[in-house]
Order: sequence, then structure tokens, then C-alpha cells
Amino acid sequence: MFGFLSNDLAIDLGTANTLIYSANEGEVVLNEPSIVAFNRISKHIIAVGKAAKEMLGRTPRDIQVIRPMQDGAIADFEITEGMLRLLIKRVTQGWRSTRRVVVCVPQGITEVEKRAVRDSCEHAGAKEVYLISEPMAGAIGVGIDVFESKGNMIVDIGGGTTEIAVISLGGIVVSESIKIAGDEMTEAIKNYFKKEHNLLIGDTTAERIKIEIGSAYPLEKEQDFEVTGRNLVNGLPKAIISTSEEIRKALAPTVKEIVEAVLRLLDRTPPELAADIYNSGIVLNGGGALLKGIDKLLKEHTSLPVHIPADPLKSVVIGAGKVLEDIFKYSSVLIRGMRY
Ligand code: ADP
Ligand code: MG
Repeated sequence: MFGFLSNDLAIDLGTANTLIYSANEGEVVLNEPSIVAFNRISKHIIAVGKAAKEMLGRTPRDIQVIRPMQDGAIADFEITEGMLRLLIKRVTQGWRSTRRVVVCVPQGITEVEKRAVRDSCEHAGAKEVYLISEPMAGAIGVGIDVFESKGNMIVDIGGGTTEIAVISLGGIVVSESIKIAGDEMTEAIKNYFKKEHNLLIGDTTAERIKIEIGSAYPLEKEQDFEVTGRNLVNGLPKAIISTSEEIRKALAPTVKEIVEAVLRLLDRTPPELAADIYNSGIVLNGGGALLKGIDKLLKEHTSLPVHIPADPLKSVVIGAGKVLEDIFKYSSVLIRGMRY
């Protein structure tokens, strides 16, 4: 009722991207890479988000650029807290205090990490902090009725982790989390060029190739493109022509691990719920859902329908936003012990 006086926020604290939904605005107001640039000695934060990403691989010695949420966990507490605080501040206007915050965290997060996330939000001014697991928020975000007595399978391919969960009756029935996702795909492309072409390419280039040319399934129109990097033999800049087929080959082992994790979880799913999933299929969330043909490949291996929402990068924060706006309805899906 007094919502207009405060600024309630839903935050998707991802390993690759942090998104913030504002209840006042009724929309996603921030979408930034989870990257921080700071002074190595003083630990003073110099830039967060896009500005920090642009510094990657181009910094002088005393500036370090890191992704504080590597592998779905908090690799550096102090820096994560600084990042969260700065991002929250950016979307909170003047005197309006942030009252309630719903934060999505990876499924496998530890107690210590939960505390760190909660403390960071409190230090940024939040009075009430609620945590929700990523697959649950993602399911709510794509419009699934999570309270129904019907099984739904969610696969979230993020930067550091792929989280797979079967949800029914407002809870996660079975789940699987592997530390193989988008970053691993980018790394696979880098390693491929190193091994096959003696060419060293940067992370940014490798990620761009993955997004623009990468695929998990044969494309209708395969394509050629030029890659530039450093020749590992003589240390000089070098350009070669590569193909989309080659990139698919480089990505195949990583993609296979994701498919296998889905199959493992299907195998562990109770039969009644498996029957539901046979009809409803699998929902793909996270940036990895955008890898071309990943739906076709999953469909081929599972014989299940595979759905990708219009904007899979936003499902989680949108779901957290719905929870934020109806916290009583969703109180049972919040991570227990985290209601204050
Ligand atoms: P997180 O929740 O861990 O922050 P996201 O869901 O934001 O992760 O997904 C980020 C990952 O998705 C990154 O590894 C990024 O490279 C990858 N990604 C984004 N767009 C695409 C695309 N079109 N094709 C393949 N991968 C993509
Ligand atoms: Mg995510």
C-alpha cells in the first residue's frame, strides 16, 4: 500500500549478468555484466558492469578486473558486496529507500554465501531480504504455475552453471547443477583455436564468435568468418578463416555434458512427474538457451518438446519481480530461514 514511498527491487545476481527489476517502474531497470574493476592494492572499486567489461584484458598492472560470482558461487565476498551496493544505488533515486529485496541465487549456494548476499543487500539499505533459487524464479518468470501438482522441468544455462530442476507443488523435487555453461563454451572455442590453429584469441572475441556463429545443431546456412588473434608460433598477429561447422565441433563436448545432465535428471524424476514432463516438455532459460539449435539437439536426445521463452536472459529476474509483488502468495517458495 505504501509501495510508492519505497523502492522494492528484484535482483538476479548471475555469474555473467546482474539484472534488477524495480516494483515502482514495473520493469527491468538494470542489466549489466557481473564484472568489477578495482585497484589491486586499495581494493577501491573503479568500475562495475559494462564499463568494467570494456577494461577486460586491457588494464594496467594495478587494476584488476574480475567476475566475482564465478561458477555460480561468490568467489570474492568483498567485491561482490561492493558491486551489489553500487548497482542498487544506481537504480534507487535519492530519498526513496529500498525496503524489500528479492534476490535469486544459484540452487547450490552455501549458507555462508547466502549470508553474504543478504548482508550485501542490507548494507545497500534493504530492510527485508528474501532469497529464491534461480530455477524456481525462472519457472515463475515464464508463467508456470509452480503450485500446481504437475511436474515442470526447467533448464537454466547461465555463465558459470547449468541448473536443472523439476518443480511441482511449489517446490523443487529433484535438481542437478553442473559447473558447465556459457563460460565453458567460450573457453572451448579459445582452446579449439589454440590447438587446431596455433591461434590465441581473447575471451571477448571467443564469446562474440559463440554468440554470432556458435551452434549445437547443423544450421540451415553454414557460414565462414575471419578470426584474428596472436600466432602462438611466432607471436605475431594473425588472421584465419573459420567456419560455423568448426565452431560447432569445438562446442560439441560442452553441449554434450549439458544434454547428459538433463538425461540424468530425467532418469531421477519420479514417474508421475516424468509423465507430466512428457506432455509439458522442457523450458530453457539463461543465455545458453540462445545458442543456435540447442533446442533441436535437446529435443533429439530426449524426445520431449523444448520451449524457449522470448527473452530467456530475463526469465529469472521477471519471476523474482512477480514474487516481490506478491510476497505472501510466494512465501513458501522462498529459501527457508531467509525471511526477516
Ligand atoms: P548468469 O545467469 O550466470 O548471469 P546468463 O543467463 O546471463 O548467465 O547467461 C550468460 C551466458 O549466456 C554467457 O556465457 C553468454 O556468453 C551466453 N550467451 C548470451 N547470449 C548468447 C547467444 N546468443 N548464444 C550463446 N550464448 C549466449
Ligand atoms: Mg542466471
